[in-house]
Amino acid sequence: MNDLKEQIKSEALRLGFSHCGIARNESLEELRSFYTDFIRRKGHAGMNYLETWLEKRFHPELVVPGAKSVIAVLMNYFPPEIIPEQDNFIISKYAYGADYHVVMRYLLEELIRFMKLSGSNILAKGFVDSGAVFEKAWAQRSGVGWQGKNTLIINKSAGSFFFIGVILTDLEMEPDPPETDHCGACSNCISACPTGALDIPYQLNIPKCISYLTIESKEEIPEELKEKLKDRIYGCDICQDVCPYNRFARPHTTPEFLPSHILMNLRKADWIAMTVPDFNRIFAGSPVKRSGYQRLKRGLS
Ligand code: SF4
Ligand code: SF4
Repeated sequence: MNDLKEQIKSEALRLGFSHCGIARNESLEELRSFYTDFIRRKGHAGMNYLETWLEKRFHPELVVPGAKSVIAVLMNYFPPEIIPEQDNFIISKYAYGADYHVVMRYLLEELIRFMKLSGSNILAKGFVDSGAVFEKAWAQRSGVGWQGKNTLIINKSAGSFFFIGVILTDLEMEPDPPETDHCGACSNCISACPTGALDIPYQLNIPKCISYLTIESKEEIPEELKEKLKDRIYGCDICQDVCPYNRFARPHTTPEFLPSHILMNLRKADWIAMTVPDFNRIFAGSPVKRSGYQRLKRGLS
């Protein structure tokens, strides 16, 4: 089984994932009281999908019957070049290129195809932000990173600019050791957050987070927070940019995540003049397209 585990991890790296770890499937009941309280007090703001599939999240074997192992993979999106911020509106680095859901789902399917070569009857299902699994909890349990005070998964030798993918499987494999917290006395992310969304370490105050306000929220951005966006119109990377572990971030090598020439060269006046057809053309296949033209335009001023 150890041979197979190592083969799966090597294949994950060959496919383009930067880290891969394995956890033993177990109940996540210990998260129940925190998570149900979070939902009860509407901590998830307008993201109603976070209320769904609760039992499945706590018990992965309800998703994949007989699930024995959880494979967590990370995929680097730290860009080789930052889009110039002078005289520009700012979008999060994760949104420079193609929609990661599409890229990651394809690669997870490839990894599952490889796993099935070892035993065609195995069950395995991949997830990227799908809502039916607690991806961050599994990333920590599988040893690929810990959930930092900024609530993101951080890898000690590579930082936090990663997408997370998870595979639930009934294959039994020796688990990797879980990762422990290495934030220590650092509080860079808490001090740097412009809206106070991290005032309670390890807990994101979603309604105050610029990423939520500019990507997910369907409401107008509250006046008192608007001025704190500082030209951020889609997401926010501040609490990652200041994290000392991101000194170790290395540029990704995934062509799909590179910004187009047009996006690289947009400046404020171009964003303001952008029409719906322009938007559809420039952001075809991009995560920005998911939020839509109107939501993006809200932040332009
Ligand atoms: S993404 Fe921006 S607004 Fe949200 S917690 Fe991080 S620094 Fe604060
Ligand atoms: S900035 Fe510091 S406290 Fe925040 S996540 Fe990174 S290491 Fe942890």
